[in-house]
Amino acid sequence: MIRLQQLGLQVHTDDYGNVVAFLDGENAAGEPLVLCGHMDTVDVVENGQDEIVVNVGEEKITSDGQTIIGADNKDSVAAILEMVEIIIEKKLKHRPLELVFTREEEAISVGAKKFNFSLLTGKECVISDMSQAYGKVVRSAPYCIQVDVQFEGKECHAKEPEKGVNAFVAACEFVTLLSATEIEASVRMNIAAGIGGVKDFSSKSDISIESISKANRNTVPGMGNVFIQLRGLVNEHGDKTVEQIQEVSQKVAEKFGCKVVVNVNKLADCYVLDEQGNLMLKIFDVFRAQGVEPSYFDSNGGSDANIFNNMGIETAVISSAHRNNHQVTEYVIIEDLVKLADFYLRLVTKVD
Ligand SMILES: [Zn+2]
Repeated sequence: MIRLQQLGLQVHTDDYGNVVAFLDGENAAGEPLVLCGHMDTVDVVENGQDEIVVNVGEEKITSDGQTIIGADNKDSVAAILEMVEIIIEKKLKHRPLELVFTREEEAISVGAKKFNFSLLTGKECVISDMSQAYGKVVRSAPYCIQVDVQFEGKECHAKEPEKGVNAFVAACEFVTLLSATEIEASVRMNIAAGIGGVKDFSSKSDISIESISKANRNTVPGMGNVFIQLRGLVNEHGDKTVEQIQEVSQKVAEKFGCKVVVNVNKLADCYVLDEQGNLMLKIFDVFRAQGVEPSYFDSNGGSDANIFNNMGIETAVISSAHRNNHQVTEYVIIEDLVKLADFYLRLVTKVD
């Protein structure tokens, strides 16, 4: 924030602590452009080291192998600041800039979800936040829905099973039925785990397969949990599959005479960008002007771009300068970092 203020930008924080800065003024022309990076990092440390040691080599920036360096996403923040400094210093004509630095992207875009989008007027945004070879552009990223299905039966001693309702068997039947249910072809459903046991088992902190087998063997389980994840590129199909999961679980609960609770947590909506859209064409032009042949990438995970796109701001994610993110082997390719700052410079000074 201090650096942005020193450069003369109007800097604000929203209620959640996301930082937003505006660069307008006499050299600004054309449609506003939003650039976004996230300020947080994952917390990867080996051997309890609490300090990040940064080694700047000839070609790469690395840590000492005990921590991440946090270049995801600080490489992008640095490149944006460098570009801003250059356009101010050289008084270059540029698009009005709306810079957003979010919090808690790594916690599945919590900061972006809470960002005050009414602060922005731009309809196009670029985010550099991808551990891939330089020149890639994310064309699509899936929605992600977590569905937790919990059957609640009736516990009793295993010697009189007729007095209980086995919720684990209900959960197993649910999995069998759900697996046989026809769902939309676009939906990637992962039935990730199933756990059954006594009801107070979820409050125990030392759960292991051994402890479950010991504590539960003599009890008809009163609880059966199934954890499911859905991903795909058609939001409606994901929502439809959630309804099917609810229907199947209800059917099983009725058959067994037990309760069922379905918790749905939609972490992100999907997006698919238009390859011939203005933003994509501009990005490809800039990469080509840098002598890099760009290519598309269909992402398997989400980012702040899922939130921005679904808030009506067309947002493309491009490669960053970091590799091996979220690992102690993380590094920055210095040449790519220089190219990234140059990318931003070319993009923002392309005034239509
Ligand atoms: Zn990131």
